[in-house]
Parts: sequence; C-alpha cells; structure tokens
Amino acid sequence: MTVSEQTFDLISIGGGSGGLACAQRAAEYGAKTAVIEPQRLGGTCVNVGCVPKKIMWNAAGVGLSVHDAKDYGFDVKVGEVDWAHLKRKRDAYVLRLNGIYERNLAAKGVVYVRGAARFVDAGTVEVKGQRLSARHIVIATGGRPTLPGLPGAELGITSDGFFELPSRPQRVAVVGSGYIACELAASFRELGSEVQQFVRRDRLLTNFDAMLGKSLMREVRALGMIIHEHVVLAAVSDVSGQKTLVAEDGREFAGFDCLLWAIGRDANLAGLDVQKAGVALDPSSYIVTDAFQNTNVAGVYAIGDVTGRAALTPVAIAAGRRLSDRLFGAKPERHLDYNLIPTVIFTHPPIGTVGMSEAEARAQYGDAVKVYVADFTPMYHAMTSRKTHTDMKLVCVGSEQRIVGCHILGTGADEMLQGFAVAIRMGATKADFDDTVAIHPTSAEELVTMR
Ligand code: FAD
Ligand code: NDP
Repeated sequence: MTVSEQTFDLISIGGGSGGLACAQRAAEYGAKTAVIEPQRLGGTCVNVGCVPKKIMWNAAGVGLSVHDAKDYGFDVKVGEVDWAHLKRKRDAYVLRLNGIYERNLAAKGVVYVRGAARFVDAGTVEVKGQRLSARHIVIATGGRPTLPGLPGAELGITSDGFFELPSRPQRVAVVGSGYIACELAASFRELGSEVQQFVRRDRLLTNFDAMLGKSLMREVRALGMIIHEHVVLAAVSDVSGQKTLVAEDGREFAGFDCLLWAIGRDANLAGLDVQKAGVALDPSSYIVTDAFQNTNVAGVYAIGDVTGRAALTPVAIAAGRRLSDRLFGAKPERHLDYNLIPTVIFTHPPIGTVGMSEAEARAQYGDAVKVYVADFTPMYHAMTSRKTHTDMKLVCVGSEQRIVGCHILGTGADEMLQGFAVAIRMGATKADFDDTVAIHPTSAEELVTMR
C-alpha cells in the first residue's frame, strides 16, 4: 500500500518531543499511528535545544572544575576549549539519538512519514503530494526563534545558529533576558568568550521570582560578563564583520564578532495551512487548546510549544502521552495539569524553580504569605579562589504554611529540585520540610532547616 492510500487512527504532525511521545503511546494501545517529520527526528530538544545545550553546559562546567582543581591541589593547566572538537562530538551524539528515535518508532510500529504536512481539511493532511487521513490529528509542530523587526536583525544568529558555530567567537552580544539568553550567554563566557548581554529591563529572568534574576546577575558579573540594563535596540550594522548595536536612546555598542538574538519563540505554523482545518489561533498566533489539548475543531488537537503553554520538553511529552491515554486508553479524564511544573535554567550555578514567585503569591494571598530565605557560600568553595553563592527561597501560604513556591540558585539546584517538586505537588507544608531529617553536608539540607 502506498502512503497516499493510508488512513490512520492518529497522526502526529511533528516528530519532536510531543509528537513522538503521543504517537508512541497511541501505538502501545494498538492504534494505527503515523508521525510526519520533514527534518531529523527528535525536534528542537534533541537537535537544537536541551541536548546540545546541556552538552555545552557540561563542557563549561568541566572548564570551571579544571580551574578549581588547582585549588584542590591538582597539578593542572587550564587550556582553551577546542570548540570544533566539542561540536564534532556533540553533533555525533545528536546523530546517534536521531537513529535511536527512528528505531524506537519502527519497534513500536509507528509509520514514519518524511516530509512537511499541510492540512487539506480537518481530517486530512498532504505530504509531498500524498494524502493521509486520521480520526485524530495532533499538531505538534513546535516553535521557532523570534527575530526582532529592526534594521540589521538578520546580522544576528539565534539559538539554532549557536549550534552551527564552527568556532568560538571572541566578542559576543546576547540580546534577551530569558532562558536561552542566560544559558547561552553563560556558556559562551565560561568557554572563553567576552560576553555582553543586553536586557530591556533592570534584571535577568523577569518571568521568575525576582531573587533569581538578581542573584544570577551577581554570579555572571563575577564571571566577567557585562550586562547592559534598559537597552531597547533600534538597529544593527556590520562593518567588516564587526557588529554595532544601536539603542533607541542613541547609545552604541560596537565591536562584536557575533550577535545572538534570544527574545522568545513563536509558534511554528509555516506552511501547515491550519486555516484549512478551521483551527483557531490566539492573538500571539499560538494554537488555542483546552485542558484536554482539544482545539476548537473536533478530532484536531495540539500539544507542546505550538500551544504557547510552558514550552518545555517534559511538558510536551506529558501532554502527548496523556492525550493518547485519553483517546485510546479508556482514561476519559486524563489530561496534564499545568500547575507546579518544575524547571531548571542551566547556568553556572544553575537555577531550579517551581511554583509561585513571591510576588505572585502576595498578589493572590496577601498577608497569608510567609517567605523563608537562605543564602550561603557552598562548602566546595572553602577551598577555591573562584566563589559562587547560593540563594534559596520557600514561599508558604496560610496557617498550615503550605509551600507554593521553591526557588533556588546554586550548585546542585538542577538535580535538587525534582524531589522537592514531588513533595510540593503532594501539598507539603513547611512543617513537613522541617520534620525531614537533613542530609549533611549538602546544600539541599538548607531547604529543610530554614527558620
Ligand atoms: P519540537 O520539539 O520543536 O518539534 C516540532 C517538530 O515539528 C520539529 O521537528 C519540526 O521539524 C516539525 N514540524 C514543523 N512543521 C511541520 C510540518 N508542517 N509537518 C511536519 N512536521 C513539522 N526544554 C526543556 O525542558 N529543558 C531544556 O533544557 C530546554 N532547553 C532548550 C534550549 C533551547 C536552545 C531551546 C530552543 C529550547 C529548549 N527547551 C528546553 C524547550 C524544548 O526544546 C521544547 O519545549 C520542546 O522541544 C517542544 O517540543 P514540541 O514537540 O512541542 O516541538
Ligand atoms: P523566554 O520567554 O524565556 O525569554 C524571552 C525574553 O526576551 C522575554 O521574557 C523578554 O524579557 C525578552 N524580550 C522579548 N522581546 C524582546 C525584544 N524585542 N528585545 C529584547 N528583549 C526581548 O524565551 P527564550 O527565547 O529564552 O526561550 C523560549 C522558551 O524555550 C522558554 O520560555 C522555555 O520555555 C524554553 N526553554 C527552556 C529551557 C530550559 O528548560 N532550561 C532552556 C531554553 C529554552 P523582558 O520582558 O525582561 O525584556
């Protein structure tokens, strides 16, 4: 049978985190399933997101450890990172993952259709001239980096371009204050580049508890990064490969080999013709979904970044799997609760955060909020000339002091948070934390000994 004649129970449009998870779970229930993907399997996370980013974070961490090793008595010399070597090995690892994803699809009996889909109507899509139809069509086409609409914007790269860089640029400008700007600026700096970061407001990570952005600014400035606050850019120019950024107030910042835009991501709907299916978009052009990932059109669903809700890999995966549990697993109420999603920002030191910021809690609960904070220099640095600091905050509500937010910047925060997120999700109170015996000597023990 040719692809053009095929009818499925479920089609995932997009072979990224959400689309793959949804299709594979459906296939486990015995559904006849297809994934349509024009590029390498794994989507943003595997190819130009979490995975290669984490390798760069690991590399930066190795560099910092080598630096500290002298202070612990090792006879080491801190050399330059061989960026090309790092990229080659990183790319090879990603390629291996692409292969594993393809074999997983085959093992589960999911049909892998190579090409870009476009809707013909709500139940049919076309890929390279062939038509596929399904009772259930899941839009999981992800996002793409936003470029600003100003003259010279094309002189900059985005996170996609970061992963293509064949060598390390020496002088880098990073524009943005969110996850990607902070993570990639820190990686550049820790791997040896001179970095200047440009933010529109007075701090980093403005979507999170204020402590985190302020603490991160302290840490990255200590690493030698320059952060320019209150800069709204108006234009970019390039003379002989050297870029100049011009701000709306006339200030100019010159001499950059590389400019990285990290100002958010848009829904990736290019060429999909969603209007032919009648699917509604919100004012920011994300697909509108309800709590069950339904769009406004029966039989058409959307999951992951394309919905504009908590653009994280585990969120896309969880939404996709729960959708298939609901459609094929006789679990009619199964859906993803978007509250209390833990997340990590991979800087050095990393940030782990879950739940409400202090400001959000105070806006909702007023005087019923009580906040506990701790800050200290981890014992690791008793021996090192390089220092980092740890900041922690617990946001508690009501007479029972239920914990509604936990925010940590500090070494180990990335691995520390997952277990605390389970407890908080189960409704843990400050007394539960206090009653838990500490693990000593760790940084995490501070979270159960706060007064
Ligand atoms: P994607 O993974 O983007 O997959 C969408 C797929 O759809 C793509 O493969 C695309 O080619 C395909 N597609 C598009 N149009 C069509 C079409 N017409 N037909 C068929 N297929 C199509 N999240 C974390 O949780 N942790 C992290 O550390 C993290 N780091 C990140 C770092 C960076 C630099 C970036 C950019 C993102 C990061 N994310 C991280 C976010 C994470 O990558 C996304 O939330 C996740 O990949 C979203 O999955 P998705 O399935 O919605 O979309
Ligand atoms: P974010 O939404 O995290 O941050 C973008 C920020 O850029 C905005 O919050 C805004 O901050 C600033 N901004 C917006 N427009 C402009 C502009 N024109 N000029 C200057 N600054 C601007 O987006 P990212 O692109 O960093 O990441 C996209 C998503 O990918 C994240 O939200 C996250 O869900 C996911 N991701 C997750 C990671 C992880 O889990 N570790 C890592 C990377 C990405 P302000 O208002 O302060 O100016």
